[in-house]
Amino acid sequence: MKRSFIREILESIDETTISFAGGLPSEKLFPVEDIKTATMKIFDNPKVFQYGVSNGIAELREKIAARYTKEGFPTRKDNILITTGSQQGMYILAKYFESKDITIEEPSYLGAMNIFRLNHLNMKGVELENNGVNIEKFNESFKETKLAYLIPDFQNPSARTYSDEKREQIARIVSEEDGILIEDSPYSELFFDKKNTSISVKIPKNSFHLGSFSKTLVPSLRIGWIRADEKLLQSLMIIKESIDLHSCGISQYILNEYLKDEEKYEKHLQDIRDDYEKKANFFCEQLDKYLPEFKYEKPKGGMFLYGSFEGIDSFALVQKCIEKKVVYVPGNQFYIDKVPNGEIRFNYTHSTFEQIEKGIQLIKSCL
Ligand code: PMP
Repeated sequence: MKRSFIREILESIDETTISFAGGLPSEKLFPVEDIKTATMKIFDNPKVFQYGVSNGIAELREKIAARYTKEGFPTRKDNILITTGSQQGMYILAKYFESKDITIEEPSYLGAMNIFRLNHLNMKGVELENNGVNIEKFNESFKETKLAYLIPDFQNPSARTYSDEKREQIARIVSEEDGILIEDSPYSELFFDKKNTSISVKIPKNSFHLGSFSKTLVPSLRIGWIRADEKLLQSLMIIKESIDLHSCGISQYILNEYLKDEEKYEKHLQDIRDDYEKKANFFCEQLDKYLPEFKYEKPKGGMFLYGSFEGIDSFALVQKCIEKKVVYVPGNQFYIDKVPNGEIRFNYTHSTFEQIEKGIQLIKSCL
């Protein structure tokens, strides 16, 4: 195993480097005042400082469950396990499925691939097309593995989103094989047009649905969750307890307080979508202006823009870019075997408009 390229890069660059590398939300959009108000309210209650239950505070689980139910996915609080970021949700699942074979998209989320490596899961990559995985290949692979990890909404890194048809097909295959789908959806709320229906809603007994407040609110609270059938969740509790007994109580109470005003949260989500859509459009305009040879698909949501240069090793190029003080993540990082290619993942949400234009100009000068 190696450390994550992205986390290493984040540590090594200084403030003068323009970074399109980390999947960082825009700080400008953090609802600082509202979180401050929520925080001040909870501290009168000494329970906030006490040990808590392993699956997370009931009020918060109730609120998360209610959001699912409202969207047509009937869910009760006992279907929710609060985790320390969805990253921990994935870790718990990887521990549970230790050493098994698992079907994943290629490219896929680097952080998940590292967890799978750490827990000796044997990853089988299936090509991700622009409307979801190649179904024939997925079918073939899933028949063997009976376990899959997919990111159907504005995927990290590719920003691709599954069509309704592919969602149906995946659900059918998982159900026919009586296998398990791990559906990771931290970006599902960050849509520019419409919210997609999760695959899990069609196969509630055969799926783990992972969610997070990192992209919609603030990542530092480290609160995510796993939504699953109660029986399935029970098997995960022993792993959760062994890791950290329970996720940070203070974070959970802050979130719970903040989420009491549903309208405020909805407005906040809309503000993020509007801002990110503008940023994505601007990023595309700048790419078209300065780097017309870079081929990409326009994102429809999420935080990333993915594409490729033909005949250029994007891993070699990034070394030059780092010297010029601009950085992105080369595509080879998102593949199981990491063979160099011309692909690049850009994060467009964290930089200012000025940084976006300047950064793309700097990349052009390195080509
Ligand atoms: N899944 C995916 C696809 C991600 O991109 C990320 C964050 N980069 C995570 C899970 C982890 O998010 P968190 O632990 O902050 O909830």
